[in-house]
Amino acid sequence: MTFDPASNIQHLKQFGEFGGVNPSITDSSTFTFLHADDMEETFLGHMEGCFLYSRHWNPTNKYLAEALSVMEDTESAWITASGMAAITCALLQVCSAGDHIITSVTTYGGTYAFLKNYLPKFNIEVSFVDITRLDLVEAAIRPNTRVIYTESVTNPLLQVSDIPELSRIAHRNNALLMVDNTFTPMIMSPARLGADIVVYSMTKFINGKNDCVAGAICGSKKFIDDLSNVNNGTAMLLGPVLDPMRSASIHKNLHTLHIRIRQHSSNALFLARELSKAGLKISYPGLESHPQHELHKTLMNEGYGFGGMLAIDFGSLEMAHQIMQKMQQADVGYLAVSLGYFKTLFSCSGKSTSSEIPDSVQKQMGLSPGLVRFSVGLDNNIEESLKSILQICKEEGVINLNVL
Ligand code: PLP
Repeated sequence: MTFDPASNIQHLKQFGEFGGVNPSITDSSTFTFLHADDMEETFLGHMEGCFLYSRHWNPTNKYLAEALSVMEDTESAWITASGMAAITCALLQVCSAGDHIITSVTTYGGTYAFLKNYLPKFNIEVSFVDITRLDLVEAAIRPNTRVIYTESVTNPLLQVSDIPELSRIAHRNNALLMVDNTFTPMIMSPARLGADIVVYSMTKFINGKNDCVAGAICGSKKFIDDLSNVNNGTAMLLGPVLDPMRSASIHKNLHTLHIRIRQHSSNALFLARELSKAGLKISYPGLESHPQHELHKTLMNEGYGFGGMLAIDFGSLEMAHQIMQKMQQADVGYLAVSLGYFKTLFSCSGKSTSSEIPDSVQKQMGLSPGLVRFSVGLDNNIEESLKSILQICKEEGVINLNVL
């Protein structure tokens, strides 16, 4: 039986006060103690089930964390106020001044900027490599390498990371593997494939409504306890805690994630197949033409497809802009950043979510100026969108087939 993250969530018994079918929302920032000794013990981290202050732990966040840890098959999890808070807290928790990180050069632009521009302040060195070249990852290892960092499917080039092999390289060298699984929740379970720490922007597929920003860190109990340690835990001390009201609404959305992911995946596969037949330059891990298609198949859980993200190279920035505006007018979706929404979203990565990456590096990593990243929506009639995209591409001369 393959791993089934959705059923693990389904079988969780989390009730609210008075038998509520949803866990109660606890919006208190502080908590009373009947016995003064218990407060002291809680500060020392020795009391299970006691809450002292919501920056440390909040019961509503704990319910969501529990659901995420059964989804990821990790011992524990921590909820943050953004994906960037998850990434930065997790990295700062494991790295000290003088340490070294190896990262995929292709990552979300904010992550790239943190690694490239921010960490040098703390004397943490970062090597940027093509994560699909394991020989380059191995060659970048140094005695002080503490973390190998990657995204399971990278933003925006949709390269697939060989998590088991990266884990072996990391562990052979006493380093940790940290994986951002934002693009492929449920589709991949990085901790089961060998990752030590899994981070998420829950802003995207997990919440799926674009009504809030949130993140999560999944890992061992020890790691999560360390993150929340009152004396030196990065999450506790930097304090990017998620509001419990938000946490409760994300938690309810998590229960429909498996259905949404399947629909995102089947719509994206349909568009990818049809648009590539029409001659467009498509990158989608579900296409046999994708360089890591076979690898993706070996990493994925059964039944969730290849995800909702695809990229089309329209050749030039000007053409990409023109086509995106027309697609928005034709209601294919919205010209907007972010992903995992019920409407299709598209943006030109080089000038938006990857604009933190200098043009020369974009060129080197193969990020073309005309590359448009699509987060394919939950459309009930994706054929309509296909027709509109083909029509626009014909008008713009990007395809010349009589495909309609
Ligand atoms: N990781 C990935 C892959 C992303 O695409 C993003 C945002 O676009 C982030 C992390 C950052 O998440 P947030 O915007 O929730 O801070």
